[in-house]
Amino acid sequence: MNSPKLFVLSSVAGGGKSTLIQKLREKHPEILFSISCTTRSPRPGDKEGVTYHFLSREEFEKGISESAFLEYAIVHDQYYGTPLKFIEDAFQKGASVIMDIDVQGAKIIKEKLPSKIVTIFILPPNEEEWEKRLRGRGTDSEENILKRIRNGKEELRRQDEFDFKIVNDDLETALKELEEIVFSKSK
Ligand code: ADP
Ligand code: 5GP
Repeated sequence: MNSPKLFVLSSVAGGGKSTLIQKLREKHPEILFSISCTTRSPRPGDKEGVTYHFLSREEFEKGISESAFLEYAIVHDQYYGTPLKFIEDAFQKGASVIMDIDVQGAKIIKEKLPSKIVTIFILPPNEEEWEKRLRGRGTDSEENILKRIRNGKEELRRQDEFDFKIVNDDLETALKELEEIVFSKSK
């Protein structure tokens, strides 16, 4: 990888970002994952320092006041942010980074570092399958699922702001498309 990049994946909740990132990193562990900070509560399967850094509201707001985030946003009523130091260290090492952030964060990052950012929007194949996957994941309450579907409809309207779109119908095909983007943009 001669030209390290920051690959920003966004989608509606349940679009398949985490699954695709995990699969990509199993095959290509040299691509680093940016672990975000959040004030949301851990869900089943979450691990401190692996899926997220879980912070209190006070800790997060201290991070904001100390400019510790490359970007941050309020998503589904909670703070989420990208630690700046990790990204700086990765670029210093010449490593590419993949991250899973919402559409507001993707826009902020793209404006801050236009030449280093590649934004990718992951789409579920259709609404029925999207809801099925979101419910099938079994990690959210019904109230949270409904909030995520409502917010997701807004996010879908912004898909054309992204450099690339991948329809996550068949997982292996979507993974292949992601790999093609990552490797063509890192040359
Ligand atoms: P996100 O990180 O975008 O919220 P996830 O990666 O958690 O989404 O995916 C939501 C659910 O859909 C998970 O249970 C995951 O296993 C499943 N899933 C993801 N991609 C596919 C696919 N191509 N086909 C079937 N199920 C999928
Ligand atoms: P979840 O709670 O389902 O893990 O994530 C909710 C939303 O927050 C997703 O759209 C995810 O992409 C987004 N998100 C996760 N980390 C960050 C981050 O660091 N910054 C921003 N802006 N959004 C994030």
